[in-house]
Amino acid sequence: GVRPRALSRPRLSTSLRSESSRASQSSHLSLSPSSGAQPGLAERSRGASVPISIPSTQQRPSTPLGQSGGDRSLQSLLKTPFGFSSYRPHQQAACEASAAGEDVLLVMPTGAGKSLCYQLPGLARGGTTLVVSPLIALMEDQVAGLQAKGLRAERIHSGRGRLESRRVCNEYLEGKLDYLFIAPERLGVPNFPELLARRLPTLIAIDEAHCISQWGHDFRPDYRLLGARLPMLRPAPVMALTATATPIVQADIVKQLGLRAGARQLIHGFRRHNLAIEALEVTPNQRIDRAQEWLSQPGRLPAIVYAPTRKSAEAAAEALGENHRAAPYHAGLSPDVRATTQTAFLSGQLDVVVATIAFGMGVDK
Ligand code: ADP
Ligand code: MG
Repeated sequence: GVRPRALSRPRLSTSLRSESSRASQSSHLSLSPSSGAQPGLAERSRGASVPISIPSTQQRPSTPLGQSGGDRSLQSLLKTPFGFSSYRPHQQAACEASAAGEDVLLVMPTGAGKSLCYQLPGLARGGTTLVVSPLIALMEDQVAGLQAKGLRAERIHSGRGRLESRRVCNEYLEGKLDYLFIAPERLGVPNFPELLARRLPTLIAIDEAHCISQWGHDFRPDYRLLGARLPMLRPAPVMALTATATPIVQADIVKQLGLRAGARQLIHGFRRHNLAIEALEVTPNQRIDRAQEWLSQPGRLPAIVYAPTRKSAEAAAEALGENHRAAPYHAGLSPDVRATTQTAFLSGQLDVVVATIAFGMGVDK
């Protein structure tokens, strides 16, 4: 047998994500090309279940739901359109605080269900929830999931054409969107924040909020634009979400985003009881074979294999492709190729993605 060594650092590691694959097997399969066909559905499902006023003017509806009424509305939205029978731990407090207009810093483990914590109160408040998200793949995943639920979600990022982006902007300004996802660097595009400000969002969600802190492990300078740009998009409540914030990073997020003095801090740790780590020290030329061996055992698919470089990702994908439906994913591939690979992986047409760290954050599979 092979003895796992806890302290070695494998350069090529195999990561199996065993969490709920239900959503990815069903709702996340249909990447609808646009939300154009969806609005009717969204109106119907919302109208049928809850009495929410849908904004028709240029201004946001500033009508946070009252205590009891809000709770009932959140509860019923949880079931339709979100399709959940109950909250998971800590979700309810976050949803209620946000629906009531409070700023929130939410720290919960990956897979705990943070997305719902802004998606649900955003819908309950009416108007458009603006979501800042660091990765295109993550945004596409979230938008597809919301569209599959009949919600009107769109996104603007560098992987989309100018015409598409313009159409989405217009839809936003006309109040036709429940959610608009944007990449943080958009806030640095001249006049774009001003354009957004012409119709204020009802809630602003900053996903992977640790990216704003240089004390965190994944600092993105573009996130710093938020500090200067958020004020013009207020008075909407802001929710900052992350799985990985030390107390120093938490304080930095609150400060950099300019969260209000009384901001609710809901900190629930990041321990993942369904995960284990095993390390194995092997020479570089054995790595692909060992990965192959590992993947061939029962119950090991689907899998993400991480590789240190683009080149090694390509090589491993090719080798693993002999026995598995595998494809590479890295920042050197075109947005089209990356989107196709991600969609195929989410829908079960690919079993293995061999990726650099460009892939994975927030992907719901
Ligand atoms: P996080 O952002 O915290 O990593 P996600 O928001 O991506 O987690 O959610 C992880 C998974 O949990 C998704 O598949 C989502 O559909 C599911 N989920 C979220 N809330 C609930 C709930 N209340 N009941 C059942 N499943 C849920
Ligand atoms: Mg997430």
